[in-house]
Amino acid sequence: MLRILVVEDEKAIANLIKMNLSAEGYFCSVAYDGKRAADLIEENTYDLILLDIMLPEIDGYELLAYIRPTNTPVIFITAKGSVEDRIKGLRLGADDYIVKPFQIGELLARVEAILRRTGKMTTEYEIFDVVVNTESRTVKKNGEFIELTVKEFDLLVELIRNKNVALYREHLYEKVWNEPFMGETRTIDSHIQRIRKKLDWDEHIKTVFRVGYRLEV
Ligand code: CA
Repeated sequence: MLRILVVEDEKAIANLIKMNLSAEGYFCSVAYDGKRAADLIEENTYDLILLDIMLPEIDGYELLAYIRPTNTPVIFITAKGSVEDRIKGLRLGADDYIVKPFQIGELLARVEAILRRTGKMTTEYEIFDVVVNTESRTVKKNGEFIELTVKEFDLLVELIRNKNVALYREHLYEKVWNEPFMGETRTIDSHIQRIRKKLDWDEHIKTVFRVGYRLEV
């Protein structure tokens, strides 16, 4: 599930965006101020961040500087519609810019466009001799279908989307099981074991000491 963070201090707008994104099938979190947003960005990974400029505590420009190193795409959402603000936002590295008030349909279209442009919406991945399709939720190895459980599949996709990145067990658990991690290391470990076995990926899915796992490509 693609994760989107909405940073917006006008709660009515933030909640409206969240409601619509959730209805489209995105996993959506909300921060009502810049400080909270910074905390969430530090603790989680997002596929896209919708960022208001005028915010309490830390403003959107400052947050953008903080987000840039994570390579997470950003769409500025703001009442400031002047050309200078638009240029400043884009120059600072925002991927797109939307001016309030906007139609929710326009926002959804831009979200989708950015996710496509940045490769987040890719539905088929080819890695080694394995082809994973997130639309049909199928896995093929050397042209043969491999049966994975729902969680095994989601875990595999998470590893693939973050290939060559060491992923914490906690992150994997929260992303795939969608609930807080309470130390269920064995759940993660046994799922990883089964994926390795089914795909014959023992050497590709590395155990990272004290962290978790990394798909090495
Ligand atoms: Ca605001």
